[in-house]
Amino acid sequence: MNDYFEREAKFHMHTYGRLPILFTRGEGPFLFDEDGKKYIDFLCGLGVTSVGHAHPKLVAAIKEQAEKLLHTSNIFYTSPQIDLAEKLVNISFADKVFFANSGAEANEGAVKLARKYSKMHKGEERYEIITALKSFHGRTMKMLAATGQPDKQKPFEPMPIGFKHVPLNDFAALKEMISEKSCAIMLEAIQGEGGVNPCEKDYLKAVRSLCDEMDLIFILDEVQTGIGRTGELFAYELYDIEPDIMTLAKGLGGGLPVGALLAKEELAAAFSPGDHGSTFGGNPVVCAAALAVLDIIDKEGLLESCKNISFKINERLTEISKVAPITEIRGAGLMIGLELSKPIAKGVVNACLERGLIINAIGDTTLRFLPPLIIDEGLANEALDIFEDVMKNLSEEEKAN
Ligand code: PLP
Repeated sequence: MNDYFEREAKFHMHTYGRLPILFTRGEGPFLFDEDGKKYIDFLCGLGVTSVGHAHPKLVAAIKEQAEKLLHTSNIFYTSPQIDLAEKLVNISFADKVFFANSGAEANEGAVKLARKYSKMHKGEERYEIITALKSFHGRTMKMLAATGQPDKQKPFEPMPIGFKHVPLNDFAALKEMISEKSCAIMLEAIQGEGGVNPCEKDYLKAVRSLCDEMDLIFILDEVQTGIGRTGELFAYELYDIEPDIMTLAKGLGGGLPVGALLAKEELAAAFSPGDHGSTFGGNPVVCAAALAVLDIIDKEGLLESCKNISFKINERLTEISKVAPITEIRGAGLMIGLELSKPIAKGVVNACLERGLIINAIGDTTLRFLPPLIIDEGLANEALDIFEDVMKNLSEEEKAN
């Protein structure tokens, strides 16, 4: 038995409440631990490995680029970065792209861009960003301030100024919050870490119209919802709207760290050389990986298959909810949240893990499934057999875990 548990506790800062498993290998929709035990990965490293583990095309693209060129900095041109920027522009509403290394960083860039544009065109005082309660935008200080979860902010106060929060799907509250200081509204189309809470369609459309009316910038954080997770390439397509700025990360790199900030031309033009940058952002290897991910999604018809499997999973979960303490099934595509009537989420996660299924708990009463887009119906059913069995037979001891 490896002593990883003790060594991690000794050498790594205690920032994660980790589950006691050491994974050594991944293949398609499966992860394998150090003893070779196989797990169905219904979490994808928190929505990242959407095309599965070690997809041969993704591995080949990374290898090929790593053998040619790993890094130059952004003082110079590299072709995978330009190819990926062009690709993202061609498949989205946006005209320009900037690359970061994570979701939080992409969001930092979005806020900087919105503030600079507002300053240039609307005056010094319009800097406030309105976000939603229960949102999650990242762990940097500014994104913590943007995140509408006071318990996460408390230990690090004082927070950077300029962020206001309103309840999601409450249009009146949002309107009320707008002042002469407002610069932008920033939302997740479906809140991820906050509990898989979708924006209502009318709400998001009304927010779009309100931004137009009040001359506000509309930022969509698609770090979790983007790159096919909801069955569309971007969640805004589900709502028949377009944002002014969008951020991506997670699924884009297929497992390598990449973030992207996308904007319409008029906004993007607010950035001049020296305004924003990143040593690693848009590195040739991660861009080659992202290009491969987008190609795999396209060539393997993963958006269509995501919608089909999502439908089957939801049908099955509806059946399971008749015999298990599930009160609500939320989300879109393969971003699925389950509300439980009892505080047993962590016990369910542990019991599933024991039986070879990886799912996620958000708090005590919410479960989250983020299976890979490559999953087929047979494996989805196998995973749901485990889940159903756990939900029906959870012992008192397991419920308490
Ligand atoms: N935005 C959303 C919607 C997220 O779900 C996350 C991470 O879960 C982030 C931002 C932060 O991304 P990262 O952890 O890559 O900084």
